[in-house]
Amino acid sequence: MEIKKGIAVSPGIAISKPLVIDSRDYRIPRRPILPAQRDAEVKRVREAFAAGIVELTELETSSDIRERNIKDIFAVHLSFLRDRSFRKKITDFVSSELTTAEYAVSTILRESAVQLASVDDPYISQRAADIYDIERRLLTQLVGKAAQEVDQLDREVVIIAHDLSPTQTAGFDRNFVKGMATEAGGRTSHTAIVARCLAIPAVVALDDMTSSITTESTVVIDGNRGIVIVDPDEETLAQYEQYAIDFGKLETKLDALRDKPAVTRDGVEIRLFGNIEFPSEAVHVKDKGGCGIGLYRSEFLYLYSGTEPTEQDHYEAYSETVKHFAGEPVVIRTMDLGGDKLPQNANVGVEANPVLGLRSIRYCLQNLTLFKTQIRAILRASILGDVRIMLPMITNLQELRQAKMIIRDVMEDLDEYAVEYNPSIPVGIMIETPSAALMASLFANDCDFFSVGTNDLIQYTLAVDRGNERVSSLYSAADPAVLRLIRGVIHDAHKGKIGLSVCGEVASEPEFTMLLLGMGVRTLSLAPPMIPEVKQMIRSVNIDECNALARKVATMDSQRQIKNYLRDKAIKILPEAY
Ligand code: PEP
Ligand code: MG
Repeated sequence: MEIKKGIAVSPGIAISKPLVIDSRDYRIPRRPILPAQRDAEVKRVREAFAAGIVELTELETSSDIRERNIKDIFAVHLSFLRDRSFRKKITDFVSSELTTAEYAVSTILRESAVQLASVDDPYISQRAADIYDIERRLLTQLVGKAAQEVDQLDREVVIIAHDLSPTQTAGFDRNFVKGMATEAGGRTSHTAIVARCLAIPAVVALDDMTSSITTESTVVIDGNRGIVIVDPDEETLAQYEQYAIDFGKLETKLDALRDKPAVTRDGVEIRLFGNIEFPSEAVHVKDKGGCGIGLYRSEFLYLYSGTEPTEQDHYEAYSETVKHFAGEPVVIRTMDLGGDKLPQNANVGVEANPVLGLRSIRYCLQNLTLFKTQIRAILRASILGDVRIMLPMITNLQELRQAKMIIRDVMEDLDEYAVEYNPSIPVGIMIETPSAALMASLFANDCDFFSVGTNDLIQYTLAVDRGNERVSSLYSAADPAVLRLIRGVIHDAHKGKIGLSVCGEVASEPEFTMLLLGMGVRTLSLAPPMIPEVKQMIRSVNIDECNALARKVATMDSQRQIKNYLRDKAIKILPEAY
């Protein structure tokens, strides 16, 4: 039995066999196989070589490649792949070391590359680059097949990977993917957010996960405590089976709150909205008792399809969402591309600091056709319900004014064609950069609402990458600097008499509910599966005690102290959730 500790990012317990997805661009870990799997693994090596030969032969003979020396490179690669002794070295390694095809390919090829690179003759030493290329080609075959397997699952699994992209996670079939665990990532990386929205129990930031697992292992993923157990002993397994039953019972109990209002014991009403990535999630928001959409991450439309959405793609997605919420707000955030959300074919060069680079509203303002296409679709959908526009990652007033001018331009275009839309559609901004938080009093004069995006606000305020497991202990919503900024934003929104909500992941953490209420927040937007628990918390407190708690927190100077205090309070109020 092996117990690993990571960060709990999506609650629930999963117990299943693993499916390990390696990453072609990452060091392949050594993973043992059983003697009975030896032949199958050797066959995988042979198939990868055969597929590589077919691919290269096609490339070599392709009429597009007239360049003589490029053809020569392919010919060299082909000769490597056709070299039987080379392949035998790899299959022998699989058999003698009892390890996966991926690991054998990677190990033998890298050994050869290092040997070649050390030869004194530059003609020979430069061949090392060819070997790395061949390694990549073979791994694409091997890893690509494993990744494809996820799309064709017919058995229950938990997914184990070094890292997963948000779109990969969004594509998981929830009937079969029961949990996931990754070595990379943080609590608010988008992969974690997608797992939470899809209610897939998940743990991230685990140390060396992929190498200790065999296909025959049993894996327990405890998304409540942030623990993964490989091959649990009988007693532990029984304990976790019981936890899973208890967790299911708690969920059923909380789901009974669906039609109950989110009001405090002394009658203060709190609006609970859902965060979604796809229209199909809107129904879950309803099922869990949410009363609208507070954050529609529209960029997933682009990320998931891999191609730039047309106006009709946007329109259909929005009208599909709005139809679930007659008269209730649906806040569509314009495409927040970049950072860990980049489509393959986006017109963005490689950047040294993508999170600080050409992303989000900046990208839209430089790609006006893409932006206007989306705005047209939102405006067309605006007559179907209470649709609102939210602009992400605003850092200065000019960006807001420019975006609003573009919205007005699009309105004029629609007027010309007599297309109907809501001319008073509310336009708000995300407060997710320190500059926006600090200037909130000015922004309040120029927009209809704020939504505090704590995920990025924490990242930018504390200078901590939200997806980097190595600095995750520094990333905290309880940091006094972050709380001071949020307090200021709430004050400025109230003073400017504009709407205010919190839509970062902190809104879905019951430990923070009292604090947010005490700071004056009355609207929260959160991952749909978390709505019942947060509602239960709201229904268990009164505003006076929330206010007192917020005042007390304002006197504290360390995130650890604040976190412990909030946790102790929450445990007293909702012991069964802990
Ligand atoms: C945020 O930054 O808090 C937010 C809600 O948006 P995202 O997580 O998509 O960056
Ligand atoms: Mg954000």
